[in-house]
Amino acid sequence: DDNGDNNNDGNDDSNDESNDDDDGPSGGFKALPALSVASLVAAAVVRLDKIAAESGLRCNLLAKVEAFSAGGSLKDRIALRMVLEAERKGELVRGRSTIIEPTSGNTGIGLCLVGARLGYRVIITLPEKMSLEKERLMRALGAEIIRTPTDARSESDESNIGVAKRLTREIDGGVMLDQYNNVNNALAHELSTSVEIAEDIQTSLGHDAIADVLIAGCGTGGTISGIARGLRKHNVQHHPTNGFREGLHVVGVDPVGSTLAQPESLNQLAEGDSGAYAIEGIGYDFIPTNLDRTVVDSWVKTNDEDAFECARQLIRQEGLLVGGSSGSCLAGALQFLASPQGNSIAQDPTKTVVLIFADSIRNYITKDWILS
Ligand code: PMP
Repeated sequence: DDNGDNNNDGNDDSNDESNDDDDGPSGGFKALPALSVASLVAAAVVRLDKIAAESGLRCNLLAKVEAFSAGGSLKDRIALRMVLEAERKGELVRGRSTIIEPTSGNTGIGLCLVGARLGYRVIITLPEKMSLEKERLMRALGAEIIRTPTDARSESDESNIGVAKRLTREIDGGVMLDQYNNVNNALAHELSTSVEIAEDIQTSLGHDAIADVLIAGCGTGGTISGIARGLRKHNVQHHPTNGFREGLHVVGVDPVGSTLAQPESLNQLAEGDSGAYAIEGIGYDFIPTNLDRTVVDSWVKTNDEDAFECARQLIRQEGLLVGGSSGSCLAGALQFLASPQGNSIAQDPTKTVVLIFADSIRNYITKDWILS
């Protein structure tokens, strides 16, 4: 875990690099500013005014758009942090170690990007369902891609997780950074994403403004857990009395067919529903350690049809070049804000609701849903 070896664990990840006492063959990379989080990540908080007006919402409806990040998703942050922390602990050595990771693609893209810059062989295990765009992007960055059956249970030897574990045992110097269990996944979001959201809200809505509601899709859970912790830390200091638990109501979005939501009854499938879903990057058949479900106050379930419709709406009405899971997030947000609990927030112009849009249309350019 993250204890002990670095007490300088503030928000400035560029320090992480300049302090890096790397003496390996690629030591010169520490002079490259292009690998600091600040330059890799160029994401913004934007207003969704047209969608809010059309949906009859009076609250501030905002989105953190992570499509602008170099690799096209919020996973660049965790890839960089997991690699730099593993290097600091001596678990990864440039030019010697091989990074092996099971992913739905975006963590893979982030790792391939960091790997290309720093000099790592990268092997990615990717379920068949994930887009060809992701695979080709990672191959362009020099990675080896192994496809695994979409319907393999996560704990099976055939799943992307099972295959990555086996390769890590078999390949000399193989290291699985393990985004499901690695504390640097949620920590990256707690220390960077949440801070950017809080600052952007203050800049655009005024010094006393905070996020009252956070709505995010869940895969590993690093995003929702890290941002929720970071925003709660901020809100408790700045605005402890807005009526929500530690100043923030957190809504988790889970696709129908996944089993992350609580209570368990939400995850029951309708008769005849196979539980398969096309949306990439969210939903699992196990609870990753990085998904701290105690941070989540309420869950909503979304289906492909609503998610893709919402993604198209974001692209055409708001001009945001987001991917399918951003559509899930909006679909989940509209569902929550229409519920009895969400409606009082939706009709309150003093409340601010923040959605997390995880990736870019770049991952899905050849998918039919973008033009449907
Ligand atoms: N959306 C997309 C497109 C993703 O790739 C991911 C990461 N799997 C998520 C949402 C969810 O992020 P997290 O793993 O942090 O829960």
